[in-house]
Amino acid sequence: MTTKTIFSQILEGEIPCNEVYSDEYCLAFRDIEPQAPVHILIIPRKPIASLIEAEEKDTDLLGHLLLVAAKVAKQEHLSSWRTIINTGSEAGQTVFHLHLHLLGGRSLQWPPG
Ligand code: AMP
Repeated sequence: MTTKTIFSQILEGEIPCNEVYSDEYCLAFRDIEPQAPVHILIIPRKPIASLIEAEEKDTDLLGHLLLVAAKVAKQEHLSSWRTIINTGSEAGQTVFHLHLHLLGGRSLQWPPG
């Protein structure tokens, strides 16, 4: 059984989002609990639960998500930023629809917690 995630509800327009970019393959919107002045999520329209479930046939899609992250970062006037994909609950993944975090607008510490 596939459980509908909050992100598939956003994709289907059942829940509103603060959209910043959209195309045939993905949607980008502002995180509801931003951890930086710019905190945007980029999600594929295809419901891949987690990076661990991505397959060879998703290669182009995964590359596209990264390029969209860069496009959105430039749209947000960022010259440096961080992209993060949390995979699995121990890594902090809470929504099981693959998503890429784009964080910027402040100086970011390394390593993350
Ligand atoms: P992760 O912890 O990597 O699974 O990230 C999930 C992210 O989704 C968190 O940063 C949440 O703040 C964010 N989030 C959850 N619900 C919403 C929502 N309805 N709109 C925007 N962002 C959300």
